[in-house]
Order: sequence, then structure tokens, then C-alpha cells
Amino acid sequence: MARYPRLMPATPQLFSASVVRTERISPSFQRVTVGGAELGGFEWLGFDQWFRLFLPPSPSTPLQLPRVSGRSWYRSYLLIPESLRPHCANYTVAGFRRTSDGVELDIDVVLHWHGGALAGTVARWAESARPGSPVGLLGQGCLFDPPPGTADHVLAGDETGVPGLRGILASLDPSARGVALLEVPDAADCCDIAAPTGVEVRWLPRSRGRSEPGRLALAALAELNPPAHAYAYVVGESGLATGGRRVLKRAGVPPSQITFSGFWKA
Ligand SMILES: Cc1cc2nc3c(=O)[nH]c(=O)nc-3n(C[C@H](O)[C@H](O)[C@H](O)COP(=O)(O)OP(=O)(O)OC[C@H]3O[C@@H](n4cnc5c(N)ncnc54)[C@H](O)[C@@H]3O)c2cc1C
Repeated sequence: MARYPRLMPATPQLFSASVVRTERISPSFQRVTVGGAELGGFEWLGFDQWFRLFLPPSPSTPLQLPRVSGRSWYRSYLLIPESLRPHCANYTVAGFRRTSDGVELDIDVVLHWHGGALAGTVARWAESARPGSPVGLLGQGCLFDPPPGTADHVLAGDETGVPGLRGILASLDPSARGVALLEVPDAADCCDIAAPTGVEVRWLPRSRGRSEPGRLALAALAELNPPAHAYAYVVGESGLATGGRRVLKRAGVPPSQITFSGFWKA
């Protein structure tokens, strides 16, 4: 049972939207901004709010969205014929604004390459999406779930966790303390981000290809000496998530104070 209303909503809402613009904000991140009249009803919760992103199976196929009833949508999704079934993947709200023209929501998509070619369905879409391209978003709430009264935080993630970590740091109480470890593929992905003054923000660039994703953040986590009452949040490549939980438990952080989630598998 969710302790905070910002965690998984009882009745997730599905929104149709379309691409407004795209921008390469750093070597590894393509920002896709979406908007549309329906998004006016999107309830922005801050922190690491995430959603399921639906994309047409090809640029020439209309976007057919599943029916959502309470929390159930997957059965209806599978009933859509395969040739029309949208691609579905999980993404984080990287920015949300109400403008004079309506609402804009940013999605920061990690661009990842295999053998020199851009890999991943969403990464390829993000790089080539044109204004007006249709998308669907199914709101899912937040993973970040500290016990009430938490002051000390240990936050860690690879590039896929960066949008969520940025949102958490911007949403935390100004009195929050702790450390945030953000591993990214390239030194040029590091940037200034808003955070409480008591939270040390440490960027860990991998220098593209020179180490396995998640290893730098995991090694940095293992060197921390967090207080036992700290709340920890570790997301990203699955080895970082499970390994991070292990080193934090070993350091004395109770499992009930650790949120960990594998966002993808190398
Ligand atoms: C709650 C949540 C929030 C997330 N938020 C974001 C976000 O804001 N931005 C973001 O970029 N990702 C985010 N992710 C991760 C994203 O969902 C995965 O990377 C997902 O695999 C991308 O979907 P896809 O359909 O493009 O990948 P697929 O087409 O299914 O993947 C193709 C191949 O690429 C590999 N792959 C996937 N991601 C990566 C990667 N980052 N680096 C290297 N190889 C990879 C897969 O293992 C697979 O072999 C989030 C995940 C979760 C669970």
C-alpha cells in the first residue's frame, strides 16, 4: 500500500499527446518535449514521477492506445493486433511546464549505441521524431519513497536514472542531507543541477566505453559510510540496482529503507 499519494495512483490516467520539439541536450541525452490539450489534466507530482510511453509501431501507423480500467491496461494492450500494437517503454517526467500555449512535458531519452549504430526503439524514435508525431502517456506515480522524517539520503543511478535523480533533488526539502551519485557515459553529460545545499552531487563520467554501465556508481556506493537511518535509492542497470542494495545492506542500511529498481539490463 502506497504511503504517499504521489506513489502509484489507484486510477492511472492515459493521455494522448504529440511531439512539440526535440533537442540534443548533451552527447547521451535527447530531450523530447511533448504537449497537447489532453496533457492539461496531467497531475505533475515532482520527484521521479514516471509513466509508460506508447509510440506507434512505425511512423506511418496510427497510434492505437490500450483501454485503461483502474490499474489494468496490459490485457487490452495485448489484444491490439501485433501490426498495430504500440511500442511501450518506461520513462520519467524530466520537466513539466504550463505555458501560455498549454502544457509541455520533457522526456530525456538516453541515446545508446551498439556497434556504432543507435540502438533501442525509443532512442531511435527520439532522434528522428518530428513535431506532431503522436505519443501516449500512462501516468504511474513515483518510486522515491523515504520513510517520514528522513533527513539523510543516498541517491545513485546511471544515465537512465539521471532524469529521476534530477527531479528528486529539485523536489527534496531544502534541509535534506546526503549524497547523489550520477553516472553518465560522457564527461560532457555532466551539468549543473539544483539540489539542497546539504546534498553533495557527484557526477561520475565513464569516458565512453571504458567501463561497464553502473560500475562507477556501484564502486562509489561501496565506499560510502551511510548512517543506518539513511534512506537509499538506487536505480539504473540491473547490476547496479541489485549490487547497490547488497552493498548498502552490508553497510547497515535496513532493506526497508532501500528503494532499488533495475531500469534496463546490459
Ligand atoms: C521507472 C523507469 C523510468 C525510466 N526513465 C528513463 C528515462 O527517463 N530516460 C531513459 O533513457 N530511460 C529510462 N528508463 C529506462 C528505459 O525504460 C530502458 O532503457 C528501456 O529499455 C528503453 O526502452 P526501449 O524500448 O527503447 O529499449 P529496447 O528497444 O527494449 O532495448 C533495446 C536494447 O537496448 C538495451 N538498452 C536499453 N536501454 C539501454 C541503455 N540505457 N544503455 C544501453 N543499452 C540499453 C536493452 O538492454 C536492449 O538490449 C526508465 C526505466 C524505468 C523502469
